[in-house]
Formats: sequence, structure tokens, C-alpha cells
Amino acid sequence: MQARAIALLRGENARMTHARKAIVDLVFSVNSPISAISVLKGLAKKDIGVNKTTVYRELSYLVKSNILKEVFIKPNSIHYESALLPHHHHLICNNCGSVEEVDCVINERKLLQKIKSKGFDLKTHKFELYGTCASCS
Ligand SMILES: [Zn+2]
Ligand SMILES: [Zn+2]
Ligand SMILES: [Zn+2]
Repeated sequence: MQARAIALLRGENARMTHARKAIVDLVFSVNSPISAISVLKGLAKKDIGVNKTTVYRELSYLVKSNILKEVFIKPNSIHYESALLPHHHHLICNNCGSVEEVDCVINERKLLQKIKSKGFDLKTHKFELYGTCASCS
């Protein structure tokens, strides 16, 4: 697991349980956002016995702890990725569900600065882009 993730969790005085470490390791090891069901399957493949309730509870704990981030692939389908990745957005194909990571859109930094200069205390934002990927169109 990345040192920064461990440090963040320690800062919370949280116990690094076997399940928690396995979940973080799994999400960090895949290179695109992963669903809770895929986390469950991935753990089972590694013979790590963690039940569904624990997986959901740990995922929401890890999001609250800023270790993981939620990505909305479809309106009702939450996926998870490392919150320690550099800021980026996702190009999501409505047809095959493929996810491509893209850098900040042009002038995004300028826009964010402008919002902050208005005195708005901006914490975060989501901006996912939905459409049809090159191999589907
Ligand atoms: Zn596609
Ligand atoms: Zn991503
Ligand atoms: Zn952004």
C-alpha cells in the first residue's frame, strides 16, 4: 500500500484491519475505477474472506478518510479509485462502459480560481464526461 495512504489512515487513529488493507491494495492495483462487487470478487479470488457488508462499510469509511474516491460510471453505479491520484476526469462510454482518464479540461484551473476569488469556499467538484467511445461509434 502507498505510504501516503497508510499515513492518512494512521492519522485517523484507525486500526489497519486485514480487510481494510486488502481493499485498499486491490483498488490501488487496478488502473481504472472498480465497483464494490468487483472488489468483493477480487478479494474472493485472492482467498481473502471478507463479507459484502464489510466491503461496503470499509469502502464508505475509506471514502470518508480521503483514501478512495467515488466515481459515478452510471447514475446508480458507484465505482472507487485511489483518491491519491493526480486530479483528473473520466470519459465514460455509455455503450461498453469503458473509462478513460483525462487531465483537467482547458482553463479549468482558471475557472476554479475565479470561483474561489468570489469568496466561495469550494471544496471539490465532479465532472465526468459521458458519450460513446471510439471503438463503439
Ligand atoms: Zn465503448
Ligand atoms: Zn480515475
Ligand atoms: Zn477537475
